[in-house]
Amino acid sequence: MAFGSKRSVVLADSLSLAKPGLSLSSLSPVLPSTPAVSFSASTLSHSPSSTSVYLTKIFPNNIENDNWVDAMKASERLLASRFNHAELDLDMADAAYGSWTVDHPSALRMFEQMMGAAKGKRIVVFLDYDGTLSPIVEDPEQAYMSDTMRSTVREVAKYFPTAIISGRCRDKVYDFVQLAEIYYAGSHGMDIMAPGRAFNASKNVSKKTRDKGNEVVLFQPAKEFLPMIDEVYKLLKEKLKRIQGALVENNKFCASVHFRCVEEKDLSILAEKVKSVLKDYPLLHLTLGKKVLEIRPSIEWHKGNALEFLLDSLGLSNSNDVMPLYIGDDRTDEDAFQVLKARGQGYSILVSSVPKETLASYSLRDPSEVMAFLHQLVEWKKNTSKSRPNV
Ligand SMILES: [Mg+2]
Repeated sequence: MAFGSKRSVVLADSLSLAKPGLSLSSLSPVLPSTPAVSFSASTLSHSPSSTSVYLTKIFPNNIENDNWVDAMKASERLLASRFNHAELDLDMADAAYGSWTVDHPSALRMFEQMMGAAKGKRIVVFLDYDGTLSPIVEDPEQAYMSDTMRSTVREVAKYFPTAIISGRCRDKVYDFVQLAEIYYAGSHGMDIMAPGRAFNASKNVSKKTRDKGNEVVLFQPAKEFLPMIDEVYKLLKEKLKRIQGALVENNKFCASVHFRCVEEKDLSILAEKVKSVLKDYPLLHLTLGKKVLEIRPSIEWHKGNALEFLLDSLGLSNSNDVMPLYIGDDRTDEDAFQVLKARGQGYSILVSSVPKETLASYSLRDPSEVMAFLHQLVEWKKNTSKSRPNV
């Protein structure tokens, strides 16, 4: 069947749609090429040595209001397409997916080869939440993980250090997952919580505290921004209260403006009001997600930094024997895939049922395949440990 080149059927994400020509390598939420202000010494002292932290000013100068609204509309169309794949001829979609997996083979199909190369290495498991452990749903508040998925992640955590790295607020992810034995990195890694015993606290200055009855260590590289985000959240809530359907959410390290239920005719005025608030906050910047505008601290800190930080905290950052494994479905997971690629180490796995531009080496179709993969991983470890007790 002739259906054009592979690239013609590869889905870009909302930001790519909004800004043609933006490459994957530049999809980091902050563009750190021209740091405007150096970051505070207190925060730098909390940072892993391998990571530079910059403040940048990218808002509002480089986003014109018209482009903003176009991008928001494109975001709506992209989300609609996720729920309506009937637009694509099914045979064509299957063929396109098959073609795409030549470059990004199924991690289930490649499991034996992958684990063959991992023997004797310390596997560390990193998982995104939405779309990876839970299905993508219309209402983000309903993105529950199944009990069987929870049991599977619990099993994985028995055998491997396991972290969930999400764009969501850490408390929300914890409420969904409810496992005390794993690491949580919320707000795209800006809010990291680990079991108290686990951290190499002497290396990374972190605070031991208690959370939900458990002793934990917190690492929050953007802590200084918390009062500012809260202030902006309150201002946005007041300014947008008359726009029907607009929902402002305080996600601690990120103020979110959901426009899922806002009529298209009101998007311009919504964008204008958000812009009028942000003009007074040059240390914050705005990114576009799936039907949501997100206002965040302008520091270069993303899921890839969180991955490196966690490896560092486990004392594994310079180890040749570590095998990080990262599974995610988001644009923001590409930062972690990039880190693994740069390290020349580990396995990056994109969760997608359609072809997508990605830096990931492997693929899984959906959360059910993620669960199958994690099951296999546990079984492999059990069998390997039986035959090689010291592995
Ligand atoms: Mg996700």
